[in-house]
Amino acid sequence: MTDIKDLYQQIIIDHNKSPRNFGVLATATHEAHGDNPLCGDKVDVYIKIDEDIVSDISFDGEGCAISIAAGSMMTEAIKGKTKKEALELFEAVHATIVKSSDQDIGKLDVFKGVKEFPSRVKCVTMAWHTLKEVIEGSSSKGIESEGENNE
Ligand code: ZN
Repeated sequence: MTDIKDLYQQIIIDHNKSPRNFGVLATATHEAHGDNPLCGDKVDVYIKIDEDIVSDISFDGEGCAISIAAGSMMTEAIKGKTKKEALELFEAVHATIVKSSDQDIGKLDVFKGVKEFPSRVKCVTMAWHTLKEVIEGSSSKGIESEGENNE
């Protein structure tokens, strides 16, 4: 039997305790915000785009251990990737976590068990959806033009 505690594997505990790339990225060229009302998680994702590469990335926010660990591991996985590679990884992670497709997502598969707890799936995918939003937004607008339309 799978217990909710199985989700809190060592790697998740570690990333929650000391999240990587955590805080506002001063050199960010783009940012996006995500919410998970189901759990109360919030995240801001910051990226610095150089040419077509996510040369730097950070996240900031608050939430449950899973959401913080997911954000932390996402930033590690994405840094240095091209925007296209980042979106491909989003698709692979999304397919693996949300559907039952079995793609190679490296150590991110620590989150696979979350599928058995539908209410926690968004805790993992929130940061990734926010990443997708910020990368797609980076093609058209920067922080300077974010404006007042929050929806
Ligand atoms: Zn959560």
